[in-house]
Amino acid sequence: MASVEVRNLVKRFDQNIAVNRVNLLVPDGTFQVFLGPSGCGKTTTLRCIAGLELPDEGQIFINGQDVTKWPPSARDIAMVFQQYAIYPHMTVGENLAFPLKAVRTPREVIRERVQETARKLHIERLLDRKPGKLSGGEMQRVAIGRAIVRRPKVFLMDEPLSNLDAKLRTEMRAEIKRLQTDLGATTIYVTHDQLEAMSMADRIAVMYGGIIQQNDTPANVYNHPANLFVAGFIGSPAMNFVPCSLSEDRKALILKGGIALGVQAEARLRFREVPTQRPLILGVRPEDILLRSDAPPDFEPVEVYLVEPLGAETIVDVSFGPHIFKVRVGPTFQAQIGQRLHMRIEQCRAHLFDAETTLCLTNSGRLES
Ligand code: ATP
Repeated sequence: MASVEVRNLVKRFDQNIAVNRVNLLVPDGTFQVFLGPSGCGKTTTLRCIAGLELPDEGQIFINGQDVTKWPPSARDIAMVFQQYAIYPHMTVGENLAFPLKAVRTPREVIRERVQETARKLHIERLLDRKPGKLSGGEMQRVAIGRAIVRRPKVFLMDEPLSNLDAKLRTEMRAEIKRLQTDLGATTIYVTHDQLEAMSMADRIAVMYGGIIQQNDTPANVYNHPANLFVAGFIGSPAMNFVPCSLSEDRKALILKGGIALGVQAEARLRFREVPTQRPLILGVRPEDILLRSDAPPDFEPVEVYLVEPLGAETIVDVSFGPHIFKVRVGPTFQAQIGQRLHMRIEQCRAHLFDAETTLCLTNSGRLES
């Protein structure tokens, strides 16, 4: 297996800059995800690593070797795409054997590797079938099998599950993660699905506008977002955002509309480096707000605006002055539209962002990964 390094990568299409000076080190054996909205440059970065696009600037290293100008076939990588690249006229077994035959592998070795790969992907019973008689999930397993059978240094996967239905995606997600762990294979995986990214990745590079906004562990990306984009992109329902400022004495957050929230004792340390009297954005995840029907000290009066029961949890939208907060509560929590409740924002888990630079100002002292 191998490490992959991208240095100062720039790729333009006419005037459009698709990848804007990307730097990234993927250590050997890492499951690295590129996550971001459509058009953010994920696929183009992956295609440069694969050798399918020539960068305008920058270099690609595989295992320390500069492969920037090497053709894809010389890089010892395997790609799995959204469209299953399997031959319809060959059986599953022949499809799996094909990449090995192409490099003149001895027949005995081919037989062993095909069996082993089929076993890993639970498709042994399908070896004699033609792709036309396979389900979408089975076809995707064969496509993954074709990639792993050759034991390449690096796997590159571009939205490999997006043609599958939701249930199958969840199953295959777990299987790919398990397979990657078993093989110890350096893998770069492109997706716009944050659940896929959070559940599979060792590290997630969140991309936007051709730039990596943050490259970190799933836990850090969720709990310590580097900026407003990352904070808003990860998490469902999304983080609540409210424009605000910190009073000069640091004792109150003044929300837009003039509502003052006392700074809680537990949050004083967290807010200590935040500049006062500057435009800020308060960010609070729906699970970091408590709702009660009684009125303990430190709780603010709110009114229920909407209730969305989702089975395992319920999302309650509450209005607080001109602001609406989404709050995640347990499935047994009872609330009616118009009901008066009380909420407490857990400020020790909340974030403050600079409204101009969008950078998070409350990440100092976080655990480095
Ligand atoms: P998606 O999830 O929709 O595939 P992405 O994040 O993978 O999006 P890219 O496919 O890398 O994004 O595209 C980045 C930008 O480069 C987009 O603005 C896209 O329109 C542009 N682009 C990509 N490929 C080409 C091309 N061959 N010619 C012209 N523009 C391109």
